[in-house]
Amino acid sequence: MISLTLFGQQHHVCGLHDHEILIERLLANKAYLNEIGIQNRDGVSYVPVKYHIIGKTDGSSRQSPKKVLDMHCALNEFYAEGDEGIQFYIKDGFNYIDNSTAYDNHASVGGTFQLTNNRVSNAVNIYIPKDATPPNGSGIGVTLGYYSPSNDWIVIRKADANGSSLTAPHELGHFFSVAHPFNGWDSTPWDGSMTQAPATSPSGVPTEKVDGSNCETAGDFVCDTPPSYLFFNTGGCNYNGGALDPCGVAVDPDEYNIMDYFDDSCAPKYFTPGQKELINADYDQRVALHTNWTPNSLTVDGPPAIVQPADDATTSGFDHVIFEWDPVAGADRYLLEVDRLSDFSLNPWIQVVYGTHKDLWGIFEANKSYHWRVTPFNPYNTCAASTAVNKFTTGNSTSTLNISEVSNWSINPNPVSQNNMMITMETITAFDGEVAIVSTTGQTLQTKLHHFTAGNNTLEMSVENIPNGMYMVNIKTNDQLINKKIVVAK
Ligand SMILES: [Zn+2]
Repeated sequence: MISLTLFGQQHHVCGLHDHEILIERLLANKAYLNEIGIQNRDGVSYVPVKYHIIGKTDGSSRQSPKKVLDMHCALNEFYAEGDEGIQFYIKDGFNYIDNSTAYDNHASVGGTFQLTNNRVSNAVNIYIPKDATPPNGSGIGVTLGYYSPSNDWIVIRKADANGSSLTAPHELGHFFSVAHPFNGWDSTPWDGSMTQAPATSPSGVPTEKVDGSNCETAGDFVCDTPPSYLFFNTGGCNYNGGALDPCGVAVDPDEYNIMDYFDDSCAPKYFTPGQKELINADYDQRVALHTNWTPNSLTVDGPPAIVQPADDATTSGFDHVIFEWDPVAGADRYLLEVDRLSDFSLNPWIQVVYGTHKDLWGIFEANKSYHWRVTPFNPYNTCAASTAVNKFTTGNSTSTLNISEVSNWSINPNPVSQNNMMITMETITAFDGEVAIVSTTGQTLQTKLHHFTAGNNTLEMSVENIPNGMYMVNIKTNDQLINKKIVVAK
């Protein structure tokens, strides 16, 4: 017997918590606006963002960096559209946290330790784990993301770290001290059997009235957002639930406000002028984010033209494949993705390349087809079109497997059980080579240039900082490569 349980559609919510810390900042920002006002803000301020892409300990399951580029693009478009005066740039590349505890349960003690360890103080920190259930549990629905006022960081679940979710602009609103319009009702949604709202909301905040008479001191403390008491699924984009405010006046919430929970299809979403003032007041006082950074280029052309391997080409060998494309204006880096599957979901090799060419050694199998794609970007603009997904098939020759000078070589001990390993080699003539320890995913972990003399050579190499696992040791000259597998087991 198989029994099936059907669940009702679950609400999608934001897991904002520690409300009192957020509201304290919000009120301080209101006072700042009244007493001082926004300072010296001509033009756009570029705010640094650190994206922490979390995967399992073996490096798998990370959200695709391409999706994060898409999210960053949509975030900037949202804030540019509303003319908030704020744009975002990726500070010092992506940070990858490969830790299964942080990936599966970021809010556990061990997970939070990883987040804290990786947090940088001079950027907005956005973590992307498997799910975004906050430390206090999932509450009234499925959590897409949240801002933690006490840690001053944002968590967005993997499924919502992309170009179509509105989670990033919403959580950035909280980051800059904006509350939900239904502040006070966050954990106790409006009960449909109720008609008139009490003077005080379930969490103790005064209930905002429709006539605006208490808007400075009730609800979200912002006067141009009408009262909202967390209404789920009532009337779509035109609320018709019949709720009355404490004076008996019918409530008419703003279904298009980015900080409320009305359906994403009520679009376009926006911040009100009052919410934008709070965002700018908060930014003004976050001195650590004032970097004076400006993009080298606001635009990035795309897509780049592919040089090699051409679409549908067969490469002669499989152990060495060269990827090359034409540079595009405005880009200073490129995301290169390679995988067996055309949606890059199987076991993708993904890396940011500074330049327009990448040699990959020893990561492809013979006689197999692979897909690849290149996306140009710079730290600010991540909106440029990628190349089409191109395909190539590897040949079966090993074009590179001998350095003619070498007659005999070995690595001892193997498995490597200590912090050092010894490479011994007999060569016929002298040559200069680069020795590299490369992971099975193609990442170079350590390199050493060495002059091999004619005759017997011994070369010691440290593996002290190399985690246990399987690696290739490559010895490369300009046009040739020899390699051996090693296992590090300390
Ligand atoms: Zn929220």
